[in-house]
Amino acid sequence: MDKFNQIQKQIALLQSDFKIEEISLNDAFNRVLQEDVLADTYMPPFNKSAMDGYACRLEDIKNELECLEVIHAGMVPTRTIGSNQCAKIMTGAAVPEGADCVFKVEESETVEGNCVKCTNPKTHKNICYLGEDYQINDVLIKKGTLINVSQMAVLAGAGYHRVKVSVLPKIALINTGSELVEPHEKPEHGKIRNSNASQVISQLKRMNIEVNHLGIIEDDYDILTQVFTKAFKENDFVIFTGGASVGDFDWVPKILEDQGFEIFWDRTGMKPGNPMTFSQKGDKYCFGLSGNPVSSMVQFELIAKPVLYKLMGAKFIPFRIKATLDFEYSRKKGDRLAIVPVVINNKGLVERVPFNGSAHINSLVFANALMEIPTNQTNLNKGDLVYVRPL
Ligand code: AMP
Ligand code: MG
Repeated sequence: MDKFNQIQKQIALLQSDFKIEEISLNDAFNRVLQEDVLADTYMPPFNKSAMDGYACRLEDIKNELECLEVIHAGMVPTRTIGSNQCAKIMTGAAVPEGADCVFKVEESETVEGNCVKCTNPKTHKNICYLGEDYQINDVLIKKGTLINVSQMAVLAGAGYHRVKVSVLPKIALINTGSELVEPHEKPEHGKIRNSNASQVISQLKRMNIEVNHLGIIEDDYDILTQVFTKAFKENDFVIFTGGASVGDFDWVPKILEDQGFEIFWDRTGMKPGNPMTFSQKGDKYCFGLSGNPVSSMVQFELIAKPVLYKLMGAKFIPFRIKATLDFEYSRKKGDRLAIVPVVINNKGLVERVPFNGSAHINSLVFANALMEIPTNQTNLNKGDLVYVRPL
């Protein structure tokens, strides 16, 4: 089994005692639901008109109909519809007793007196029936769901004005590298701006997680150890960028080992982004991401994010689709899973973007997806199907 797939198996086995809190509905978007959402009513709760029109008996559709009343939304009809009778009715209003059809106001004509006639005898019934969407006690949303926009509406419809969700983890971010300067600084020779902080912070923001950003720390074992031990006391997770590899000043793996962390993995089997550690001590965790910006981004997206969601008790399935390649792809070695920035164009085809490797974050400015080339695959033809992950 290749390394990346092995990591997926390890992620699936992770367990944690995440805490649960109850929050108000309007704060629940993009949080991990920690209860099954049950229906306390039928939906629709009554036979409901789908149109503005006239409610009548379908068998009378060709006749002139006497109009008994006007039923607006929210009102209880007062009359029962009998032979050759109707009621004017608004969208969302309760269909009166006796009626089994609503014809549209656009398909009606007024006849003398208080009567109307349907101009389309082949009308649909235009009724949303009691309980056709769901029944009392149906499970509407399952525990573990990452709450999306439409689920916000379903929660409201089911009366969940308070929602049980996972508590968000406290996360500290440390950017290691003696060559790093802040974005507002002009790098001198040999220096480089810290582009990982804003990237990782926004990845976490997308997950609703605030970050305790501890800034740039130089590649010094003692200083890094000091910052790390404080960070790991005060947070659930520490994320390092940089220093995760085998260079003389790549201290992260050594610090984790010296601090007694159990290392789950120290490489990912991905290109870019092979060196990455994930480790645990008690109920605290640490990611050591690569310093190269494309690597850290890909590592976060494909590995750190699923880990965080798993540890928050979410049933998270990364969104991948199979799309058709619009260019020839080849690489020399197929020893790792290749992750390649691409554009899914307006025809749904996968297009190339210029990409020079793990430091080339500017390439991602033009990309809207990451393409996966499986281990051992070195060539792909135009027209082949590939997995892509929209960004
Ligand atoms: P490292 O993982 O520390 O070996 O770094 C790999 C490469 O990424 C080096 O060229 C670093 O200068 C660069 N790098 C490390 N950290 C950052 C960062 N925060 N922002 C931009 N580039 C970085
Ligand atoms: Mg470094």
